[in-house]
Amino acid sequence: MTITLQSLAQDRWVTPDEGRVEIASAIDGSVVARASSAGLDFAAMVAHAREIGGPALRKLSFHRRADMLKALGAYLGERKETLYALAADTGANRRDNAVDIDGGLVTLAAYASRGRRELPDTPFIVEGEVEQLGKRGSFVGQHLLSPLHGVAVHINAFNFPCWGLLEKLAPALLAGVPVIAKPATATAYVAEALVKLIHESGLLPAGALQLICGGTGDLLDHLTGQDVIAFTGSIETSEKLHAHRNVARHAIRFVAERDSLNAAILGADVTPADPEFDLFVREVVREMTAKAGQKCTAIRRVLVPRAQQAAVLAALKDKLAEVRLGDPRKDDKAMGPLVSRAQREAVRAAIATLQTEAEIVSGNPERCEGDGIDATKGAYMAPILLRARDPMAARKVHDTEAFGPVATVLAYDDIDQAIELVRRGEGSLVASLFTYDNVVAEQIALGIAPWHGRLLIVDRDCAAESTGHGAPLPALLHGGPGRAGGGEELGGLRSVHHYMQRTAIQASPRRLAALTGTWSRGAPSPAATVHPFKRNYDELAIGDSIETASRPITLDDIEHFAHFTGDTFYAHMDEAAAKANPFFPGRVAHGYLILAFAAGLFVDPAPGPLLANYGLDNLRFLKPVSPDDTIKVKLTVKQKSSARRPEYGEVRWDVEVVNQHDEPVARYDLLTMSARPPA
Ligand code: NAP
Repeated sequence: MTITLQSLAQDRWVTPDEGRVEIASAIDGSVVARASSAGLDFAAMVAHAREIGGPALRKLSFHRRADMLKALGAYLGERKETLYALAADTGANRRDNAVDIDGGLVTLAAYASRGRRELPDTPFIVEGEVEQLGKRGSFVGQHLLSPLHGVAVHINAFNFPCWGLLEKLAPALLAGVPVIAKPATATAYVAEALVKLIHESGLLPAGALQLICGGTGDLLDHLTGQDVIAFTGSIETSEKLHAHRNVARHAIRFVAERDSLNAAILGADVTPADPEFDLFVREVVREMTAKAGQKCTAIRRVLVPRAQQAAVLAALKDKLAEVRLGDPRKDDKAMGPLVSRAQREAVRAAIATLQTEAEIVSGNPERCEGDGIDATKGAYMAPILLRARDPMAARKVHDTEAFGPVATVLAYDDIDQAIELVRRGEGSLVASLFTYDNVVAEQIALGIAPWHGRLLIVDRDCAAESTGHGAPLPALLHGGPGRAGGGEELGGLRSVHHYMQRTAIQASPRRLAALTGTWSRGAPSPAATVHPFKRNYDELAIGDSIETASRPITLDDIEHFAHFTGDTFYAHMDEAAAKANPFFPGRVAHGYLILAFAAGLFVDPAPGPLLANYGLDNLRFLKPVSPDDTIKVKLTVKQKSSARRPEYGEVRWDVEVVNQHDEPVARYDLLTMSARPPA
């Protein structure tokens, strides 16, 4: 059945009435969908995102947006089979779809959980420490990140219609910025189905997500400096969009993920007898064949020590000979077709270019066979392995991306040459190195790291748990310099920051504390009339503080603590040895003794709203405490944040321990949970 794809504009599904482009099935070339964005009012879509979607998202805190992503992930997870069924026509088998569909859902879930764990429950993010800007401490500065008041335009490549859409959507929504997604036309029917599910869920506020199936018309003309373009695709399209007059004039943020000629390197220490040899061969074959090699992270350049070239070629040929081609609907284990016959022609042309300096050692780009497939109708192609004739003279192999099941082996003579060859890729998303030698690992890793966004070092110790060369992970950076586009996606909260403006705020500590909801030294800290541990979460105010009584520390205390805990380190026990240590004037109290006494000074012992202490952050011992010194503590409410459960909130306290001269001897943040009154 042929579907006419709809776009989601201003929260309504719009069917185009003219100029539809036909999208063919990868399996047999039959028309599966038609797409066009004719008739869409792009200016109105941008205005809708800015005026409806943005304000609605910004009304929610980070935690609420994180909860929304979590609920969305669960909703889609229950309905993902629809997407699996549709995606077969893109050439993807179940394993490929697991990467695209489940991979997208995992990314959503990862951002939901990061939003809850790592972001505050405020409309902005406070970044870094307070910087003291004046000698007396009355003028300070700090960076804040606040969501842009624009729209995120997400333009995606054809190879991951679900993951590509979701891995961009999650950070933007978490930041509070609405999205207009434009999937690649070749696989837009899967992205459209995904957005239909999202829309049906009713979990996103109005205006938070719109979809363009077809061209982007004059969309870019309506963007301003509050907007962001995140692009994945070819270098040519990226160049064109980045150079768009309006994009350049408004300095519109442009995050690009583009072509990448990723390398896998077999270390010079590895022989066929080592486990790393088999791991290397397996990884190269997996990357050549997963998604029929249509992965931006796929291995394109296979670097091997010259002495091992024959062995590697033989092993790769053997493994590639085992690869079967098959209909992705029927055979999960066989490699499916490329996305389209046009894509196959593009790959054949790229192979022809590579052949000017490399010879094919396995596979025939013009011929392939498989169970029940018709390669004249479907876009099937056998895996093609090439070998560079003269790697140091070769040029095309470093700038021609055959976006299919294609890789080229390059022999190197020494480590410096391997590094030089990898660098000729002019920037890649990822490289992997297979070695069991620290020197090889260090030389190659440091030699190529500036050319890469991710570097995977595989050996027998980590192989079983390795997530693989080709898998971008929500926690780690996805992106690379130069040819790879210079973009940074994923990487935990890094990608959320793309949708936020960093502003340096300069003010008095009082003003800054009021603005950020975080107390810092120099801001008012009125003495509490009631012990703050007796106050419930809602009653506590930022800056509330108490100063405790003083307590002397005696040599007996130190001796007792040493024998009680077993910590008889010489600095606490032996006057002469302690004196010989440049940091101590003689025997000193244990740091942990100071902490224990500090707690003894500031706790309020009776049962009350303070439920538990769950940790210390940023602990520093600043000055030694000698026998007969006295200490006292100042405890101040530094920050409050609501917890997932409504019965309590989390309180961060600033703790400063000072000696009899008012000199700080220890500072830390104490983390507690304090009860909230029943709602
Ligand atoms: P492409 O032809 O550059 O298309 C990418 C996207 O740009 C598509 O959505 C396309 O829409 C759109 N587009 C094309 N011309 C446009 C224009 N004038 N204005 C607005 N949008 C425009 O790339 P592709 O063939 O889909 O993907 C393959 C390439 O993507 C490969 O080079 C691969 O390396 C790269 N890739 C990179 C990554 C990464 O993370 N670095 C990931 C995946 C793929 P239409 O489809 O409607 O033309």
